[in-house]
Amino acid sequence: MSKKLQRMCVACRIKKEKSNMLRVVQDKNNSLILDHNLKAFGRGAYVCYNKECIKKRRKFGLLTEL
Ligand SMILES: [Zn+2]
Repeated sequence: MSKKLQRMCVACRIKKEKSNMLRVVQDKNNSLILDHNLKAFGRGAYVCYNKECIKKRRKFGLLTEL
């Protein structure tokens, strides 16, 4: 069994498999957008697939470079 790639949620800091997370990126207007296709250009971070973590993420206003 291969080890799955895990990412840490920047809001709650729990590690989960990448497939269970959302990628957010900061666009050129400095707003955070959800990167559904994992292809958006820019600095990205990962958050859990739930609204609470996404909200927290916005409150921080920071992006962790990966
Ligand atoms: Zn989270």
